[in-house]
Amino acid sequence: MEARIYRNFINGEWKEPAGADQADVFNPANGKVLGKVVLSGAAEVDEAVLAAKKAQKSWKNVPAPERGELLVKTAQELKEKKEELAQLLTSENGKPIQEARGEVQEAIDMGFYMAGEGRRLFGQTVPAELPGKHAMSLRTPVGVAGLITPWNFPIAIASWKMFPALISGNTVVWKPALETPGMADAFLHILEDCGLPAGVVNLVQGRGDAVGDAVVSHDDTDIISFTGSTGTGRKIASKASGMLKKVSLEMGGKNAIIVMDSADIDLAVDGILWSGFGTSGQRCTAASRIIVHHSIKETLEEKLLARTKNLTVGDGADEASDVGPLIHEQALERVNEYMKVGSSEGKLLCGGSVMRQGKYSKGNYFEPTIFTDVAPDARIAQEEIFGPVLSIIPVDSFEEALRVNNEADYGLSSSIFTSDVNEVFRAVNELDTGIVYVNAGTTGAEIHLPFGGTKKTGNGYRDSGTASLDIFTEWKSVYVDYSGKLQRAQIDNY
Ligand code: NAD
Repeated sequence: MEARIYRNFINGEWKEPAGADQADVFNPANGKVLGKVVLSGAAEVDEAVLAAKKAQKSWKNVPAPERGELLVKTAQELKEKKEELAQLLTSENGKPIQEARGEVQEAIDMGFYMAGEGRRLFGQTVPAELPGKHAMSLRTPVGVAGLITPWNFPIAIASWKMFPALISGNTVVWKPALETPGMADAFLHILEDCGLPAGVVNLVQGRGDAVGDAVVSHDDTDIISFTGSTGTGRKIASKASGMLKKVSLEMGGKNAIIVMDSADIDLAVDGILWSGFGTSGQRCTAASRIIVHHSIKETLEEKLLARTKNLTVGDGADEASDVGPLIHEQALERVNEYMKVGSSEGKLLCGGSVMRQGKYSKGNYFEPTIFTDVAPDARIAQEEIFGPVLSIIPVDSFEEALRVNNEADYGLSSSIFTSDVNEVFRAVNELDTGIVYVNAGTTGAEIHLPFGGTKKTGNGYRDSGTASLDIFTEWKSVYVDYSGKLQRAQIDNY
């Protein structure tokens, strides 16, 4: 059978760049080639941006409730195709099928939610300080939005950006991750089937340093919305801000779960397993630090170890798998490198190796790994490993737990297990991350609240929820004077 080729979608047409190279797309569970993706360049980005710029002139004038109809249809179609999309997602990304279904559901939810914004997009109407005068603010589109997204949530993160960009009247040039081009292709086919006008969303497939860089550097992209690693985000930020573009960045994490002496330990173990080893630790909100009160450390370790050893590692397509493969060989190597670091910084409780035997031989599998007695400033407790690796950090008090949590460069998500109500509210106030969970792990965001982090995780914007509209709109303040005379604010009324 001929390999599937993932192409670009520019100005309403599926296209292949003339003479361009192609890259293989692999299933991380077994190394099988799923298809090929075209490696585009600056010329295709230019064509896509020009199409988006032209289409924006009419798209911004389509009433927002009507733009919402496209989102409703798209969400319905995503729902219709949920299982098919989840299977494709697992094959490209490796995450267990139940997680893949959850991810597609997130995109469905975001579509329906943002469609409703077509009938809100609230501004403010406020009293004017002078008589015979009306004062209000309106949200207006920014223009052409360049979306750059990672492979770990190839459709959820895309939907967090795509739907608010469209509902607000922007047009889009989307550069998805090289590892998951099929999900981008499927999303665009659905948008097309639902009546997407030509040029309103343009998809350009290829590498980050070619396509992504061209999207950021193009004079006619007005906003860049990026999710990915802090290193890439930093490069994008310096380029885009030098061009005075709006740029929103969602980047790395080093998320902690605090387990206090009053916690329900079994519940905490559930939360740790789900947050630490779900998506093989390749979530931006994955828990990688477990800050535990010394009085319950031994019990927690015992229970955690027993449950970790019972996890089924395997192909995500198998309903019985709890932990799937890592995305690619380089990720496997990177995680493995941290084992050398970890063995000098803590005590290995379990795991620690690449899985090469039998059914694991062709995939990128790594054992769920736990180090204990790790110091808060150890490299494995500070650097984003992005794999199934936990570091247990013992502490003597609640104050120390808060301090250790906050002594990280990143600030995405944190969690505390406790039954002390005073600790709950102090944690809510004092943990310095963008997301805080109480008696739940560090992952599990719902789409109608802001998603993002502080410090080196972000630059002040939030995806998801109505907060995402702040990325994709500019404020316009409007004053209508119907007094029939010149009224000077701050002067004629004082
Ligand atoms: P990455 O930074 O390597 O790639 C992200 C995207 O940027 C990809 O589409 C890539 O092709 C593109 N890119 C790479 N170099 C580029 C360049 N020079 N110019 C423009 N674009 C470029 O990240 P990744 O490995 O795909 O994703 C994992 C990272 O993403 C982790 O650090 C994770 O924490 C982070 N992440 C953060 C969030 C969040 O919301 N905070 C969510 C998911 C993932």
